Amino acid sequence: MTKSAPSHLLPVFARADVAFERGEGAWLIGTDGERYLDFTSGVAVNALGHAHPHLVAALQEQATKLWHMSNLFKSPDGERLAARLCEQSFADKVFFCNSGAEAMECCIKVARRYHAMKGHPERYRIITFEGAFHGRTLATLAATGSAKYLEGFGPPMEGFDQVPLGDVAAVKKAIGPNTAAILIEPVQGEGGVRAASNAFFKELRQLCDDNGLLLIFDEVQTGMGRTGELFAYKRTGVTPDVMSLAKALGGGFPIGACLATEEAASGMTPGSHGSTFGGNPLAIAAANAVLDVMLKPDFFPHAQKMSLLLKQKLASVVDRHPDVLADVRGEGLLLGIKAVVPAGDLINALRDEKLLTVAAGDNVVRFLPPLIVTEAELDEAVVRLERACTTLLAAAKLEAAR
Ligand SMILES: *Cc1c(COP(=O)(O)O)cnc(C)c1O
Repeated sequence: MTKSAPSHLLPVFARADVAFERGEGAWLIGTDGERYLDFTSGVAVNALGHAHPHLVAALQEQATKLWHMSNLFKSPDGERLAARLCEQSFADKVFFCNSGAEAMECCIKVARRYHAMKGHPERYRIITFEGAFHGRTLATLAATGSAKYLEGFGPPMEGFDQVPLGDVAAVKKAIGPNTAAILIEPVQGEGGVRAASNAFFKELRQLCDDNGLLLIFDEVQTGMGRTGELFAYKRTGVTPDVMSLAKALGGGFPIGACLATEEAASGMTPGSHGSTFGGNPLAIAAANAVLDVMLKPDFFPHAQKMSLLLKQKLASVVDRHPDVLADVRGEGLLLGIKAVVPAGDLINALRDEKLLTVAAGDNVVRFLPPLIVTEAELDEAVVRLERACTTLLAAAKLEAAR
């Protein structure tokens, strides 16, 4: 398609003028024939990189057997995936769906239904945090609470009370007779790679226990290894009652999940929720294959080592370019650099150097390499970042001289 041809895609995305035809590990090969180092991982989705041989084989094999058969029948592979996720986490029950927003919808329904079935339908409100992102459906938008996303879509869905991140007093004040749950991301991804302290998570857990509330973690972005553990809640020192997963769960195949303890899930009786595609055999095969790889003993030690190296390397670039970059933040391979220049300018300059990164709130650029990234690839990324900083600085000087 030439640049001037009209697009028939709904223009809701500001797409960069580049397209790709295939990928290999941490690399994408553009339709222009150029090789790009992919530190977007499809926004924290392709945790095992592109075209991982084990995932390709699993999906190819499943494609010859069964694509879809609905939830009218038993799902042995879905049972196996659910059992593996529960074995690795606090959860006892899993609902499969197709996206992060859907996983969050299920979390919200689980929390409301839990109280309703215990005789307290008035307990439906959920406390959320400023800077959050929970999805683009009408309920998850209301939970996200950002005016920018809500504008023009009618009155936001009722039942969400937003407070500042890290503000215990504000949370306490927000808890009332209608409160059902507290919802938080272990690390805010879209919001700018921001995390509350472990002390804050501990306070939230205590407040939930004292007031009979459910603690919901949105692990759509942080889950499935992104922070260097299979689930980020393990780093917070507390255990939620309900948790969402999506992004990396299928390694690039769409699948989401809502995980809950037996008690938290107790309201979800037959007929109370559903999904046509949820737990589709192709998606289940992809997610089981992702777990095969991630549960190998050397997988997370590698990801943690790469995290430490990348953090150090990025910090040294920040030190050398204080006029362009401000600080490094994040956990595991969910890392962000807060920029001094507009984050969009840095992302464009990096793309010119064939390094792909993702914007986040708070003028942050996210570095989200696949968890299988090598040290040589990190070094290559850092060289490209250095070059982009030099270019941006030269441009700024030229501008100032005018
Ligand atoms: C991406 C994201 C979502 C929404 O996921 P979709 O698959 O885009 O619906 C929800 N919560 C968090 C934390 C996310 O990062």
